[in-house]
Amino acid sequence: MKRSYFCPHCEAMLNPGQKIVIKAVKDLAAGLFLFSPQVGNYNLIMPDSFRLSIGDRVTFYCPVCGADLSSEADTDLAVLDCIVEGKGAFEVHFSRVFGKHATFVVRDGQVQRFGEHAEAYQTVNFFGEGEKE
Ligand SMILES: [Zn+2]
Repeated sequence: MKRSYFCPHCEAMLNPGQKIVIKAVKDLAAGLFLFSPQVGNYNLIMPDSFRLSIGDRVTFYCPVCGADLSSEADTDLAVLDCIVEGKGAFEVHFSRVFGKHATFVVRDGQVQRFGEHAEAYQTVNFFGEGEKE
């Protein structure tokens, strides 16, 4: 099943090849991270020079327009738009915290949770305050 990921701000496709390409910044370090388009696969490729410790919070930016990809739902999450072939459009929220494996696939008021740390985000409201369906 083909999954295409897009910047929610400029709608650039962020996985033109095998991986999702996102700019990552932590303190003074900046680089490109490559993520698997498979939800729940946490294999991450990052530059050797980029040193992270478990619990570090990384800020993700669109490599095309430079927009901050942080999720409004929770400061520990970032968000991308995703189109799954034959299934339509979803929002995919994922952890910005290194070593925390949590991904949330959101559509039509429903949330699918992935990753062994997803439980810690039970109370996150992905639908915005007072937003009408
Ligand atoms: Zn963008």
